[in-house]
Amino acid sequence: MAIDRKALKGLGKWIEPYRVENGAKFRLKDFNPGDTRGIKDERKPEARERLAEGVAWLAEEQEKLYAQDRRSLLLVFQAMDAAGKDSTIKHVMSGVNPQGCQVTAFKQPSELELDHDWMWRHCCALPERGRIGIFNRSYYEEVLVVRVHESILAAQKLPKSLVTKGVFRQRLRDIALFEDYLTRNGTTVLKFFLHVSRNEQKKRFIKRLDEPEKHWKFSLGDVKERAYWNGYMAAYEQAIRATATPESPWFVVPADNKWFTRLVVAAAIVETMDNMKLAYPRVTDAQRADLARAREMLMTEKS
Ligand code: ATP
Ligand code: MG
Repeated sequence: MAIDRKALKGLGKWIEPYRVENGAKFRLKDFNPGDTRGIKDERKPEARERLAEGVAWLAEEQEKLYAQDRRSLLLVFQAMDAAGKDSTIKHVMSGVNPQGCQVTAFKQPSELELDHDWMWRHCCALPERGRIGIFNRSYYEEVLVVRVHESILAAQKLPKSLVTKGVFRQRLRDIALFEDYLTRNGTTVLKFFLHVSRNEQKKRFIKRLDEPEKHWKFSLGDVKERAYWNGYMAAYEQAIRATATPESPWFVVPADNKWFTRLVVAAAIVETMDNMKLAYPRVTDAQRADLARAREMLMTEKS
């Protein structure tokens, strides 16, 4: 499907308000989870169309990324429960060839993982050249859930002398350096915080209780975690402040309206891949000669 480049350029306007590339100025309270840029529900079909275009275009670009085999893209998704991480990933990546895309969900670390440094499991899951890697939760949990619940840090088997007051400041610095390192090795890292409000989360949890087919998704722990909401928000703010850069920005995506979340996320990925200036590798003279020879062989083949 050929995508009108003008329509693509139009996607830019969806992202600007939510891109954070200078952490020092960032305040979470400046971002409204319910924002839709003044677009009312009746224009949802148009938004869906733009999303479909963006998704189709992404699929084409991913083929080029794969063919070039030089760069990779790492998309990090972080959010409170029920903010729509899973469904956003599903929709935005729906057109992409599964062979070129690796999704990893990070949950509580296993015994084996706890026997290593905290970045280890994430390094193992980094996308190969030519691939798009998606982290559904990530190393950022190390400065979010671990910060909010002291007992998790205590269970991490670190030498006592290293668990100081500055441990989360150090981790944030490590993350920023790690992302710089990845950038210098050809991996572009984009970070998405799907910013849902506490109220909307409550509505979604109640909906899960009301719909039997959503019961499998329900966990009492998720409801209990609401008591720590402010702690999480403070931790997110500090994480974004410490790690947002022009090369590896955060997108603080309004997540109270799922259609809008998807549009902003797709637009951010489209823009990034567009800036990568991806193209199919040029065919050499020798390869061209092989192509001509192959055609000749096939045409003159005896059955
Ligand atoms: P969903 O609820 O939509 O299935 P999810 O990402 O919340 O998706 P869960 O299995 O519910 O998946 O939760 C994973 C849990 O693992 C989260 O509560 C998260 O905070 C926790 N987690 C992730 N990384 C770590 C970590 N390094 N240390 C401790 N807990 C972690
Ligand atoms: Mg969960």
